[in-house]
Amino acid sequence: MFRKILIANRGEIAVRIIRTCKELGIETVAVYSVPDKTALHVQLADQAVCIGPAKAADSYLNMKNILQAATSLGCDAIHPGFGFLSENATFAHLVEQCGITFIGPSAEVISMMGNKSQARRLMMEHGVPVVPGSNGSVNDLNEARAIADQIGYPVLIKASAGGGGRGMRKAFEPHEFEQAFLTAKAEAKACFGDDDMYIEKLIVEPKHIEFQILADSFGNVVHLGERDCSIQRRNQKMIEEAPSKALTPQLREQMGQAAVLAAKASGYQNAGTVEFVLDKHHNFYFIEMNTRIQVEHPITEMVTGVDLIREQIRIAAKQPLPFTQADIHLNGHAIECRINAEDPQNNFAPCPGVIKSMHLPGGMGVRIDTAIYQGYQIPPYYDSMIAKFIVHAPNRLQAIRKMRRVLEEVVIEGVQTNTDLLYYIMHDEDYVKGLFDTSFIEKKLDKLVN
Ligand code: ADP
Ligand code: ADP
Ligand code: MG
Repeated sequence: MFRKILIANRGEIAVRIIRTCKELGIETVAVYSVPDKTALHVQLADQAVCIGPAKAADSYLNMKNILQAATSLGCDAIHPGFGFLSENATFAHLVEQCGITFIGPSAEVISMMGNKSQARRLMMEHGVPVVPGSNGSVNDLNEARAIADQIGYPVLIKASAGGGGRGMRKAFEPHEFEQAFLTAKAEAKACFGDDDMYIEKLIVEPKHIEFQILADSFGNVVHLGERDCSIQRRNQKMIEEAPSKALTPQLREQMGQAAVLAAKASGYQNAGTVEFVLDKHHNFYFIEMNTRIQVEHPITEMVTGVDLIREQIRIAAKQPLPFTQADIHLNGHAIECRINAEDPQNNFAPCPGVIKSMHLPGGMGVRIDTAIYQGYQIPPYYDSMIAKFIVHAPNRLQAIRKMRRVLEEVVIEGVQTNTDLLYYIMHDEDYVKGLFDTSFIEKKLDKLVN
């Protein structure tokens, strides 16, 4: 087992990883940018190293400084968390070259799955259903338009390097195509420095259903059930739940098998997520694989009882999975709400600031993953997510009731958050009935915030 792990991340996920390391008796090294000097992950880790100024490009994306910290402090592994360098194949490769274990899949697999149009092709070759779309990338406007005509409208134009809901645009009619294509391409260039594009049929009012998988270095692959992440704003998740109300045991079995197949097809090792969209007729289509731990992993932990970070570390240390598919049972229902410092009435603009006072909820079946504390200054440089509220109860309705209670109890003063919006959604009749798809917030926002 590893002796010392460096966590190349910040915020709640860095804290989350440190906690499991402590429980495993592994020493931890935090890295931080100048404005994060007093951050919780820095206080909780055994050691901490400043890796640069505020801008992520100079600190949390600064591979050289992170590797220098890891080698000089004698770390034998690096956990990348999510975001930042977690899906950066160059980083994974450099870590291994320094004789340090990267806690995640190999650089080759990250690079293959990170190119979403390439990943689509691999899935098609192995019989995993994908959304109808272009066969590989399309970068010429006229060629792209011809392919969109062939696929049939509406279409979704997507960046091969895309992530975080960025670099994608819908076109419902042919006359919208040019504008959508050029905007998506420009956004991809700006966000990812890579404007390679591909086109998919836009599945209308789908559910986003993803499967958690774990694969060890001995060829064992299991799935840990699904998460329904359909409550999204701007193609970014806001509320997730496990299991999904939309899946029958038979469909769960089919999709789970497809997810395991996807992992096997790519030679996957470690924890990963296979994302699908599910249409109204129960057809499911692969959209992408995330080669890292996911923001919403705690709901899977609650219903399976498996500590996913622990398994990631064990897999990276070349230990076999301690269970088989038959050992995995889904117990009860879990819901996660992402608490963001943002203004839902102003297009979800981030609202950084100082937490003047706060009370975080608790009680039976309530888990709060966060890195904020009273007096904490949320820096404006990073993601606006400041906490995750996770509840676990015997069934869905009880989980909803628990989340309502949690959202009633929370007090966060000093910065604007989306907690009111979350509270209204938990009371929305359609949400409670399970009648929602990825367009839920977009359609209901005006009603929900007024
Ligand atoms: P998940 O399914 O885990 O929510 P996301 O794609 O939303 O996956 O991304 C996970 C985290 O990484 C989020 O905090 C998100 O803001 C961040 N992230 C993802 N892609 C980018 C990106 N291109 N630039 C900055 N942050 C990103
Ligand atoms: P990212 O890498 O940004 O997470 P994804 O490919 O996972 O991109 O798509 C993000 C979200 O966009 C999905 O969760 C889903 O809501 C929506 N989406 C993606 N592809 C399609 C599609 N073909 N049809 C309908 N919605 C889609
Ligand atoms: Mg995605």
